[in-house]
Amino acid sequence: MDFETLRENLVSIVMSKGINDQRVLEALRKVERHKFIPRAYWDEAYKDYPVPIGEGQTISQPYTVAFMTELLDVNPGVKVLEVGTGSGYQAAMLSEMGAEVYTIERIYSLYEKTKKLLQDLGYGNIKVFYGDGTQGLSEYAPYDRIIVTASGSLQQTLIDQLAVGGILVAPVDDGSWGSTMVRLTKVTDKDYITERYGGFSFVPLVKGTR
Ligand code: SAH
Repeated sequence: MDFETLRENLVSIVMSKGINDQRVLEALRKVERHKFIPRAYWDEAYKDYPVPIGEGQTISQPYTVAFMTELLDVNPGVKVLEVGTGSGYQAAMLSEMGAEVYTIERIYSLYEKTKKLLQDLGYGNIKVFYGDGTQGLSEYAPYDRIIVTASGSLQQTLIDQLAVGGILVAPVDDGSWGSTMVRLTKVTDKDYITERYGGFSFVPLVKGTR
């Protein structure tokens, strides 16, 4: 399979759905999504679908990754916390964009497997942690950006670990079908701007580890 051509095709699909941030599109071109999913699904790697990655979890749909990453406004050198490492794909996207990436996963087997994969693929500069991401990662706070890749309620602990001027992007369950994407900008310690975008689907954000 010519993965490079398939990736270029994926970039076109995502652009047709409204993504135009060149930083995001360039990262989509670079990250080899097939390497983050089980070989049995390689045929699906560059289609715009979520794919199972084991432990009942999924790698998000490429459009969703692109949309969230565009909302996150990532420039080189920004310090980003990702809650929900999963396959490591989103973390690799952020790393390709020059971010300093901290990522945390609550399922030990996924944490272990993905930490090794990221090393093997040359993303050893991504810092991977095992723990409950609803508690954030206070050791390295504050973060310029926080991205949550599982859906739940908005976590005040995470907002507290966001730098002033920082941006948090998280899917939130608000009683409607699926999840609403929230972008929160921390204007001052107490003032936030929130924007909402409807119609996303996510695995749940779960407290505690296993
Ligand atoms: N960003 C991932 C998406 C994986 S799905 C990727 O690119 O593949 C979401 C992940 O969030 C799952 O692996 C799930 O186990 C994890 N998760 C759910 N609740 C969590 C929590 N409280 N802390 C850390 N990770 C969590």
